[in-house]
Amino acid sequence: MSRVKLLPEDTSRKLAAGEVIVRPASAVKELIENSLDAGAGRVVIELKSGGRDLIRITDDGSGMDRDDLRLAVHRHATSKLNDIDDLKKLHTFGFRGEALSSIAVVSRLRVETATEQSAVGTFLQVEAGEVKEVGDIARARGTTVVVNTLFFNLPVRRGFLKSDKYETKLVLDVVKQYALMFLDVHFALRADGEEILVVPKAGTLKDRLALFADAEVAENLVEFKIDNPMLVMSGCLLNPFSASRANALQQIFINRRPVRNRTITRAIYDGYGASLRGGNPSFVLMIETSPDKVDVNIHPTKQEVRFVDERFLYDFVSEAVRKTLGIERSEEIPAREVMFESSFLSGGPEAQQFWQLHGSFIFAQVQSGYCIIDQHAAHERILYEEVMKRTDRSPEQGLLFPLTVELTPEEFTVYEDTREDLATLGIQSKPFSGRTIVVEALPAGTSMTRDEIRDLFTDLAKLEKRSLHVREKLAEMVACKGAVKAGQRLTQTEMESLINRLFSCQNPFFCPHGRPAIIRITVDDLYKRFGRT
Ligand code: ADP
Ligand code: MG
Repeated sequence: MSRVKLLPEDTSRKLAAGEVIVRPASAVKELIENSLDAGAGRVVIELKSGGRDLIRITDDGSGMDRDDLRLAVHRHATSKLNDIDDLKKLHTFGFRGEALSSIAVVSRLRVETATEQSAVGTFLQVEAGEVKEVGDIARARGTTVVVNTLFFNLPVRRGFLKSDKYETKLVLDVVKQYALMFLDVHFALRADGEEILVVPKAGTLKDRLALFADAEVAENLVEFKIDNPMLVMSGCLLNPFSASRANALQQIFINRRPVRNRTITRAIYDGYGASLRGGNPSFVLMIETSPDKVDVNIHPTKQEVRFVDERFLYDFVSEAVRKTLGIERSEEIPAREVMFESSFLSGGPEAQQFWQLHGSFIFAQVQSGYCIIDQHAAHERILYEEVMKRTDRSPEQGLLFPLTVELTPEEFTVYEDTREDLATLGIQSKPFSGRTIVVEALPAGTSMTRDEIRDLFTDLAKLEKRSLHVREKLAEMVACKGAVKAGQRLTQTEMESLINRLFSCQNPFFCPHGRPAIIRITVDDLYKRFGRT
């Protein structure tokens, strides 16, 4: 018989800490935020083995005195919040007092710190949340936090970490985010003794972007700033002529926090409209507004935020993009709205007109005429956006009969390099023996044969710059291999579902390679063709 038991205090503390600190990158994010909250002008991050063995972050911020430091490593110790009402007015990153204490519980932590006033600095050593040693040290103003053997007492979590290369890349992404926002702070990142990012103080956002983006992207960025009583919005937008398919750098900040917000992303894509021609825009968008206009999900690891007035936000952002780039409001956007409202979702008699031609194209009547949808291109677009949205490696569609595939030596090397990325995109696999692998799950809604999976690796082996933007490339290939083919007959229900999913895509008009997925022919066009105007 099983009985309900209280978890030992020690275990529940570890579990709670593991919710805040998931991997090296989340520890680094919290520590950078603390440095920035302390007014640092210089933040240096060092990693060993992707942060697994060591994370060291040094800043020249305000530092802490001894009593504050002792308090800071305890749960719910914060210098930034006195009362729950303060939450709404918050302008610092931290306020929950959870980060440092959580890191302390799941690592061997050392903090060294000194303030301007203190004659002598303090070091403090904590292990699994227990303070082991406190003492004097000599150091300049600022703080150094050293996280040794993260998760040494949570072996399962430690085992769940991926390759050093991958963990380092996640940390790099975090550092870049803050570097885009805090132009007057010098950032540096070293991994296993190698300098992998140095970001000196920069004059403008464009200067800083030039360090991260491809030269072509950096040259074609347009800076803007728009004031409104509700919010101030500024940033950089990529000139649509150079919008690329992959390599897009997309970052949104609200009140100096990196966030995700679907309305804003949608508004940006719609602002660019047809000028994207199936590509993805690069942009950095910063919004400053009073904190009570934003509903920040106060779980520290979630980045999703909602605006109090999302409709206003959509109109404001899409209009700002058009104005900045001189783009006419494209007819496709109203067309999308018309289609949504008038036909597909109605399910009325018109919806039965879906008609498949040569097993390849779907005809659908819309208010202004009709649309022809390329079923393969449409499905590719849908899968591409779906797999790109995935962020974890939870299996989506386990295969009843796992597929074994034998790879060439070259393909096998590619496989080893890309296995983790493929897993996050929904292709779960493991090496079997020699160069044979077993594919256990595919992204939901796709079907792939053994040959198609092998083709995927053959194609990948041909890619030149494999290390960069591999995720977009992989997503493109997965979408292409997994999509319905020309010649495949679809039922009414399948056609309807395909079309509805296409129109909930960010960019429904083109496949990931930039070919049209849908064309519209209006009744007016037909009148013209028949000489009746
Ligand atoms: P929070 O940031 O939510 O307040 P943390 O656990 O991240 O909670 O930090 C606890 C406290 O420790 C902070 O409120 C701050 O006073 C102090 N602190 C942490 N890191 C630094 C740092 N790098 N420089 C100065 N003070 C720091
Ligand atoms: Mg903090």
